[in-house]
Parts: sequence; structure tokens; C-alpha cells
Amino acid sequence: MSFAQFDFHPKITAGIKACNYETPTPIQGKAIPAILEGRDILGLAQTGTGKTAAFVLPILQRLLHGPRGRVRTLIVAPTRELAEQIHSDINRLSRQTGLRSIAVYGGVGKLPQIKKIRAGVEIVVACPGRLLDHLRDKTFNLDNVEHLVLDEADHMFDMGFLPDIRRILKYLPGTRQTLLFSATMPGEIRHLAEEVLDNPVRVQIDHSRPIASVAQVLYSVEQDGKTSLLKEIMAKTDMAATLIFTRTKHRAESLARQLQRAGYAATSLQGNLSQQKRQKALNGFKCGEFKVLVATDIAARGIDVTGISHVINFDVPDTVDAFTHRIGRTGRASRTGEAFTFAGRDDRKIIMQIENSLGRKMNRINGPDLPAGIPECTFSAAEQPGRKSWHKAKKNGRPAGRSNGRPAGRTAAAGVEKQEQPHVRHRKAGSRQKRRSRAAMLSGSTGNLFLNP
Ligand code: AMP
Repeated sequence: MSFAQFDFHPKITAGIKACNYETPTPIQGKAIPAILEGRDILGLAQTGTGKTAAFVLPILQRLLHGPRGRVRTLIVAPTRELAEQIHSDINRLSRQTGLRSIAVYGGVGKLPQIKKIRAGVEIVVACPGRLLDHLRDKTFNLDNVEHLVLDEADHMFDMGFLPDIRRILKYLPGTRQTLLFSATMPGEIRHLAEEVLDNPVRVQIDHSRPIASVAQVLYSVEQDGKTSLLKEIMAKTDMAATLIFTRTKHRAESLARQLQRAGYAATSLQGNLSQQKRQKALNGFKCGEFKVLVATDIAARGIDVTGISHVINFDVPDTVDAFTHRIGRTGRASRTGEAFTFAGRDDRKIIMQIENSLGRKMNRINGPDLPAGIPECTFSAAEQPGRKSWHKAKKNGRPAGRSNGRPAGRTAAAGVEKQEQPHVRHRKAGSRQKRRSRAAMLSGSTGNLFLNP
């Protein structure tokens, strides 16, 4: 398959070349022709599949024709980082087209956003909260929107944004092309899709399965052995850019500090930082100033850094989806990567679910001084093919895995704080808005779309 088959305008082909994309990824191969035809899309695809270019390229092609200086495309994303990422992908792909895009999100001044939109943009990439502020203030309107993209819809739901999305829909013209992307399809997203999509083409790329190009290793380690295990691994493994996930903001911050003290170029990305500091951390990681970024799930959404060689789950996430998204940070668009997961006894259940989703067991390595918290240890470090051996070294008669000077009795429960939940506002049961199924009303054709999700 080649990009030539889509017959893109030479200005768009130039953008594809500038990004060094040689062949379309599977989701691009499936979605681009349908979007060019003007069809609605239901995209079941996880991050790392090339889904951004899958919707950006055909939208750019369609925007080349028609008026300039009006908001003709609205892309809604759950986090500022993802909005920035999409905006920067648009900039790279559209450089020669003269089309203009803006990222609109909270935590920064409204005025520069208003000025830029009024100066004339064709594409707005927005987070729901700030977008609604602008719409209510009537600083700009969405009357001319021809294309609506709802990206990472499942995360919008997780973050409590669905009521905001429904409010935004009221500001949009009824006649438009709508593209909805989601890695998973919980009931709420299915209902939303039925409401907003008109006879959509369903494009599914291996949703909810962690990508196969990432080698997975599971370390059996309890809470108080994690930091020293991490340092040990980092000292012995050849790592380029490494993304480490913790369960809480505080843990991300403190682990980054410990790694800095150990001499690593590390920083953290978490919700306690101002937008300016988050951007600084992210940019520093992208340009290689920081080799290690310690992040929470929410802060790391939308991170697209090429060349992440390792993802380390310092804390196992609570859901398979979160695991999939974390792992999607490495091995992106046909590159390979390695993922290390630190799991203790309390993590058995979620590890089983993750492995069911993977369709295979992760390779297991026992941390030091540990009863086998995770059953079925099939590999020892020495047996692990292609891996440097990892010894049960002892320091001062104490196993190396214990954090120096830390009381051995410190438990996982004591060490793990409440999970970061910045603005989670789950919908109350029973307060469901009355839904209007546009698709059902117009064609009835989405009725059985989800029989085989
Ligand atoms: P996404 O799933 O949109 O977050 O994309 C993941 C990564 O794949 C990004 O770094 C993109 O720049 C890259 N990418 C997108 N399309 C292609 C392609 N056709 N060939 C190679 N890399 C791509």
C-alpha cells in the first residue's frame, strides 16, 4: 500500500514526506478513503497506530477547497497534551497548505486564544472545558464546522467529559462529518457513537490489545524493593528515552527526584505542575534533555515522543486499558520497544487480566528476596534470552532489593497514595440524558454495529 493511492494534493504529499511517512499504517489504509468520501467513522484504535494522521490527512485534503479564515474543523481531545500533540501533527502535515490550526485548553490565558482564532484559523483542537468557556462567552462560534473529530472518546468518558461533549454538540451544525475514535467501547461511548455518527464506517485496529511490537517483562517485586530494582535495571540495561509510570502524582515527583539524585537526567510529568512546567518537562524529554520521564497516566495521555525505548510500569495500572495506553508509548508506528512491569502479590488479578488481553504470559523475573508474588515464574534472569543477568546481590547482609535504610516492613498499601483524579466527574446513575439516536432516526443502520465489539 502506498500514500499515492489516496491521490492527495501535492501540498499534502509534501507534508507526508516531511514527516518521513513511507507507507500508510493499517488504520490509515482503512480510514483515509472513507473520510475522503465524506463518511462518518467509528475508529476503534489505540494510540500508536497512526490514527492522528489517519484523520488529519483527509481532513486537510477536504479543507484545501472552500473558504479560509473560518473554523471548519473541530477536534476535541481529553487532555492538553493530546491537544498539543494533534495540533503539532497538523502543523507538520499542513505546512505547505496555508491551513491554520490552534490548540485551545485551560490553564493558560484565554486572550491569546481569542486573538488567534479571530485572526483566522480553519482547525481548532480543543479540550472540552475551555472550549465550552469560549462558546458560552461567544468569543467564536462553530457555525461553519464541517468536520468534528472526537479523539480518545473513552478517556473523555473516564475523565467525566461526556456531559460537556453533549453541550458542545449543541453548538455544532447538524450537517457535518463526524469521526469518533476510541481505544475501547464501553456502553457510554457506544451510546455517544449512536447519537453523533450517521451510518459510520467502522474501522477497527486491534483495539484493547497492547501492541505486539513491544517485548514485555514482568518483575515480581514488592513495594519496598521497587526503587532499587529500578536503579539496578537502569544501570544494566541499554535504555534510550524511558517513560516510567507511577500511580500517583506524589510518587511520580518523588521517584523523579530520587533518580536525579542517582545521577539520571530525569524529570516528572504530573498534575501538580503548572502547564508551563508540564510543557517544559515534555519538551525536555522530546529533545533528549531528559532521558527519563516519570509520569502519571493522566499526565501522560497524548504523549507522542518518537524513540521511547522503554516503558516501565513502576506501579501496575488499575485497568487493562490504562496498561495498553502506557505500552502504546513505546513501539509506536512499527518501532519496537520494551516494557517492564513491576508487580507484587496484590497485583495478581490485574496481571491476569492484562495477560488475557495480551493473549500470552509476560516473561517473568523474580526481584530480590521475594517469595514468588506472581505465580508461574517461567524465566530466571539468567535464562532470559538476550537479557543481562540480574543477580540477587546482597549489601551488608541485606538483600540489594531493599531500599537502603528503609524499614523492611513498609507495605504496598502504606506506600501507595490515593490515585490521581484531577477532575473525575462520573455521571450519576439515573441522570442519563434522553438520547436522540441520529443514526437510528436517519437510517437505522448503526443498530447492530456493536454486536461484535
Ligand atoms: P498516533 O497513533 O497518531 O499517536 O501515531 C503514532 C506515531 O506514529 C507518531 O509518532 C506518528 O508520527 C507516527 N506515524 C503516523 N503515521 C505514520 C506512518 N504512516 N509511517 C510511520 N510513522 C507514522
